[in-house]
Amino acid sequence: MALISTSEKRIYLSPPHMSGQEQHYVQEAFETNWIAPLGPNVDEFERRMAAYAGTKGSVAVNSGTAAIHLALLLLGVQKGDAVFCSTLTFVASANPIVYLGAEPVFIDSDEDSWNMSPRALERALHEAQKNNRLPKAVIIVHLYGQSAKMHELVSICRHYGVAIVEDAAESLGSEYGGQKSGSMGDFGIYSFNGNKIITTSGGGMLISNDTDKLSHARNLAAQARDPVPHYQHQETGYNYRMSNVLAGIGIAQLAVLDERVEAKRAHFVRYKESLGAIEGIRFAEEITGSKSNRWLSTLTVDEFVTGLRVSALIVALEKENIEARHVWKPLHTQPLFKGCQYFSHREEESISDRLFASGLCLPSGSGMTAEEQDRVIGVIQTQYKLRFNK
Ligand SMILES: *Cc1c(COP(=O)(O)O)cnc(C)c1O
Repeated sequence: MALISTSEKRIYLSPPHMSGQEQHYVQEAFETNWIAPLGPNVDEFERRMAAYAGTKGSVAVNSGTAAIHLALLLLGVQKGDAVFCSTLTFVASANPIVYLGAEPVFIDSDEDSWNMSPRALERALHEAQKNNRLPKAVIIVHLYGQSAKMHELVSICRHYGVAIVEDAAESLGSEYGGQKSGSMGDFGIYSFNGNKIITTSGGGMLISNDTDKLSHARNLAAQARDPVPHYQHQETGYNYRMSNVLAGIGIAQLAVLDERVEAKRAHFVRYKESLGAIEGIRFAEEITGSKSNRWLSTLTVDEFVTGLRVSALIVALEKENIEARHVWKPLHTQPLFKGCQYFSHREEESISDRLFASGLCLPSGSGMTAEEQDRVIGVIQTQYKLRFNK
């Protein structure tokens, strides 16, 4: 029998993990009274972030969602335009398409990367071209830290002349072909929301090699003011900039990013060593040429082989005060996006629907201890044994 021990400390999926240096920068902001809104921490955070990503520049904003919105604005997305987007992702990847009155078209995953299927993208673009309705942009998401197949996806997009926005909200610190995740498209975005690999409590970053467009983004994010002494505006701006206080947290967090990546990668290895031998359990492997930050350790559970349902595992873990989750519910199945076009991997085969049914995200906080991880592993092993003793 599994012990119910709810008095044990809760294990979260991916809680914030401070380094201890954050307060130094925050205090400095207080001491110099750089509280509102921009200031030296923002400039420094942007400089270090671009250096880390290997892009010519970056713009700090108050959320990853805002960064996607700005990227689409800069690519000229307007009312009635089509924008393609990965279907297996968090709703924030696609919401900015709707903010602009454009229409999202959802693209399925492939089996190896869980990310945008080059095959589905090719079919969708081919059809769009036939109908004279090529999208203004393709939003490619790198889920849970795993890179999408960028070589193939980039060459397909280039062939059709379509711009790429990389949603690297979950993949900061990941690499593909030696390049940092987020740096391979026309724009990339990161998120510093509380659950991401590093956090500013809330925030985001837009990165690109197009410094002119980034300057424009910086202006748009600060109410689009003309460079004249009085307040004058020619276009609609937004209040999207990151505060100087929060940028201070970001500087200190960025300094430990590579450590966080290694900690999360070690969690994945340990999970796989302990649970990977169970028949019907499959851990998401890195695709060739990529290095994942393993933001969340993810796996699929074959219900018919293991006799275990993902939802039952989540309930069993919750009873032990452990937070685990289904993988994102595909956006083409969300009531919000009812009626939107969807291109599956093959005509008759939707991979994302299958991943949603069988996928599980395990607690992966970079500060998780070995004892805590053993609790998670123990629950799953117990569930598996219980099932087989029946
Ligand atoms: C977190 C997340 C976002 C949104 O970032 P916010 O900073 O919360 O606005 C966008 N896309 C993906 C895939 C995410 O996981």
